[in-house]
Amino acid sequence: MNKGKLIVFSAPSGSGKTTIVRHLLKQLELNLEFSISATSRERRGDEVQAKDYYYLSADEFKSKIKGNEFLEWEEVYRDNFYGTLKTEVERIWSKGKHVIFDIDVSGGLRIKRKFPDQTLAVFVKPPSIDELKIRLKKRKTENEDKINMRVAKASAELATAPLFDVIIENDNLDKALNEAYHLVSDFINDKTEK
Ligand code: 5GP
Repeated sequence: MNKGKLIVFSAPSGSGKTTIVRHLLKQLELNLEFSISATSRERRGDEVQAKDYYYLSADEFKSKIKGNEFLEWEEVYRDNFYGTLKTEVERIWSKGKHVIFDIDVSGGLRIKRKFPDQTLAVFVKPPSIDELKIRLKKRKTENEDKINMRVAKASAELATAPLFDVIIENDNLDKALNEAYHLVSDFINDKTEK
């Protein structure tokens, strides 16, 4: 595979990482393309096949695991598989673009481990667990049980923050967007201090 870069944004669900990733994708000079993950979770209302995710059945997903088709995969919540197909990264690199990921903490760290020099791994930290719960409730995409499940997972994920290359504290969105832009731009242009 070629020498494109990999930009990983990982964070507990509800920390604002998706907003940051979408903002970066709009900055065309960064030459980024979103890595569309595969998932076996149900499609939410306004989501689009092959844009937000490649939606697979659990059986289809498991057969691709057996066929070694994933760069990384995770059973993020019970029976909800998520993963990055090798073909997805190849697809983006073959267009001469850099890949940007919005994936969970273990998936993000796995990509960093596989491609240590090519990857910038960014952890987005929510101001607090209470604030995270408020954001997930406002989003109204999950029921109370699912919110509690995501909050429980978030506490464990926060402990992994020091393993990332950088941590962005998302207590002020404009500041977080600006910080993310400069980090990614410097990394892509090889200005990041190692
Ligand atoms: P959601 O269901 O809210 O779209 O995503 C749930 C979690 O799965 C999020 O933390 C998201 O970042 C993570 N996720 C999405 N795609 C992938 C992937 O390809 N691999 C891994 N490991 N996690 C993913």
